[in-house]
Amino acid sequence: MVNTSNGTMTPTVTLTGIVCHKCQCKVAEVLDGCPSCGSESIETIELKQNGTIVSFTVVHVGFGHMASRAPYLLAIVQTEENVKLTTIIDGVTDFGSVKIGDTVRFKESDETIGPVFQY
Ligand SMILES: [Zn+2]
Repeated sequence: MVNTSNGTMTPTVTLTGIVCHKCQCKVAEVLDGCPSCGSESIETIELKQNGTIVSFTVVHVGFGHMASRAPYLLAIVQTEENVKLTTIIDGVTDFGSVKIGDTVRFKESDETIGPVFQY
């Protein structure tokens, strides 16, 4: 359904991941095999787009293609399926107002920086 390895630069608007048929593990990455048990019996799934911030840090100095984006909020977000992923939270102007437990929503998946969430 979704092929992320074809080199296209088009941002996708769905948050895709895989589910393992053997151990039921879900991850927010499209991989060739299960990262938990190694099974290749996996299926690409579309994850829920609402998540909760479980951990975050403010990055003041970006590097490479992220340099112009700094400062930005880098967070670990847990989706409604309890899948955790590292993501950038876009559109935050007041970093002091960010709290663990805040609800965020998937915005887009960027080819170079990965998933991006927003408030
Ligand atoms: Zn597995």
